[in-house]
Amino acid sequence: MHILVINCGSSSLKAALFDHSSGSELASLRVERIGEQEPSVRVGGATAKPLAAATDHRAALEAVLPDLLAALPEGAQVAAVGHRVVHGGDKFSQAVRIDDDVERAIDALSSLAPLHNPANLAGVRAARALLPEALHVAVFDTAFHATLPRRAQTYALPQELASKHGIRRYGFHGPSHAFVSARAAEWLESDLRDVRLITCHLGNGCSATAVEYGRSVETSMGMTPLEGLVMGSRSGDIDAGALLSLMRAEGLDVDAIDELLNRRSGLAGLSGVGRDLRDIEERAAEGDEACRLAIQVFAHRVRKYIGAYAAVMGGVDAIVFTGGIGENSALMRHRIAQRLDFLGARLDEDKNRAAKVTASARVAQISTERSRCHLLVVATDEQRAIAEDAARIAVERDRLAGAEALRIPVAISARHVHLTDAVIERLYGAGHQLRELKPLSQPGQYAAEETVTLVGPKRSIEDVRVLGPARSKCQVEISRTDEFHLGIDAPVRASGDVENSPGLTLVGPAGRVELKQGVICAWRHIHMTPEDAKRFGVKDRDVVDVAVDSEERSLVFGDVLVRVSPKYKLEMHIDTDEGNAAELSRGAEGALVKSSGVGHLTRRGTRFDREMAKG
Ligand code: ADP
Repeated sequence: MHILVINCGSSSLKAALFDHSSGSELASLRVERIGEQEPSVRVGGATAKPLAAATDHRAALEAVLPDLLAALPEGAQVAAVGHRVVHGGDKFSQAVRIDDDVERAIDALSSLAPLHNPANLAGVRAARALLPEALHVAVFDTAFHATLPRRAQTYALPQELASKHGIRRYGFHGPSHAFVSARAAEWLESDLRDVRLITCHLGNGCSATAVEYGRSVETSMGMTPLEGLVMGSRSGDIDAGALLSLMRAEGLDVDAIDELLNRRSGLAGLSGVGRDLRDIEERAAEGDEACRLAIQVFAHRVRKYIGAYAAVMGGVDAIVFTGGIGENSALMRHRIAQRLDFLGARLDEDKNRAAKVTASARVAQISTERSRCHLLVVATDEQRAIAEDAARIAVERDRLAGAEALRIPVAISARHVHLTDAVIERLYGAGHQLRELKPLSQPGQYAAEETVTLVGPKRSIEDVRVLGPARSKCQVEISRTDEFHLGIDAPVRASGDVENSPGLTLVGPAGRVELKQGVICAWRHIHMTPEDAKRFGVKDRDVVDVAVDSEERSLVFGDVLVRVSPKYKLEMHIDTDEGNAAELSRGAEGALVKSSGVGHLTRRGTRFDREMAKG
């Protein structure tokens, strides 16, 4: 399968052609100064040549397309075109097939990214017109960060105003953070869903991301790419009060502030010699104080974020450096990685100096052998990341095209607890065994006659159903609403994954038990057998989308965890808040969609487990 990637800036167009099966890049080029004086094109590593025809994005693409297509093997075609789109807003949480509706939605999001989305869209329109047979896929910079919890998305502003204007933290550089995370996990020989990473993309734009078990949970860029780290010419974090003060003192207007923060700040503003770190490092070595300060401020900011993100995730297994600076500047890595010993991260100075990453040797370890937390340099490739996403959507479309609508019964799990034998005895008396009230849909599981009272720091909830049989770890599954009622900050977790979760007090007729941990909001999930998994084309711990249709309202639940075991029966479990959000009543089912725009909404009878726990 051959994938073309197109990345349009306001006056530029980058394109690359990949053979997805072999992973090789067949061609790449870059057109500059589109619609300006003396546009030019640079093919591969060759020198730039004039390209007078590039009067707009469409004309530019039309002019270079024959060169790109010439790199295809005899008789081959472009199966999919992956387009980089900077802002997906609240609307897009993953790559999507582009149709007219998606095009309109990208256009509507231009207010959030006025410099980027219109240019991205120009590329989309040009390519759809010139390659009408191909599948066009939009890959959003923001999508990887759609998993940010609300607390990390939200600015402390009046929420009415914020939601009216879409003012919240979205995060950017998604394809790069996703790509280097995956490569780092491969290098660690771990599943991405088992590791906590901090990825530092340090190029002209810079951002750091906390990737907790495969999900972005915090990132340094916010509503726009201006927040966070010091960048080539962007300031990153700055006290908003300083802007107010500058506006008053210097009489600066909005455009002047925009220009100041986006183009005249960062390394360029601090050093006074431009944004290229190579020049700054050279001057600093010669004793230039401004350049020395630029390097110190840059490194300090990154180190500060690393510490913060380790705290957000409660630890970190690897810190990844990428981007032009992260991949090439041993000096900057050295400064950033100082005093990270408290995280178990020890830099090996020789390895750091010698580190070299390329497309064929993508990962270099720069920590000592005994370092608990790995320090890695990983070569990013945003074009390839976009190609991988586009290929994935193309494969899914082909797989789902012929498949019948595969339906999944949806059940609502009310709050409940799982207990160990020891805790059962302490709550209900020595030798007590749970008594089965009635069986649940998952084979062997049952609702017990026993109930328990949950006592949180703030309030209690009585009569919470105990589910049997007894387990090896206690687990209390509550909804977001319960969380606030009890006064507990519970993480969203897969069942059984209770490490580092908060505890509470359980009260039964014979005694009380302080749980040290175990309170979670269950990650919405689908139980299925290996045979089901085969039919759906998914595997254990995949994360998918499920479209649910009820009498009242249709909704797509993103971020649904797949659990596969021969012991399971096909069923999706959501909590009461989620059931209410979809206004589900008896008779709803879901259909696996995996990626937006592909799939089926269904409406057929189903069984509910609302009664499986009381309250
Ligand atoms: P973009 O964000 O535009 O993709 P890059 O990721 O290519 O940018 O990063 C560009 C930055 O990388 C520049 O600031 C450049 O100074 C820096 N850089 C590249 N090579 C080196 C090097 N050997 N030493 C220090 N900095 C470098």
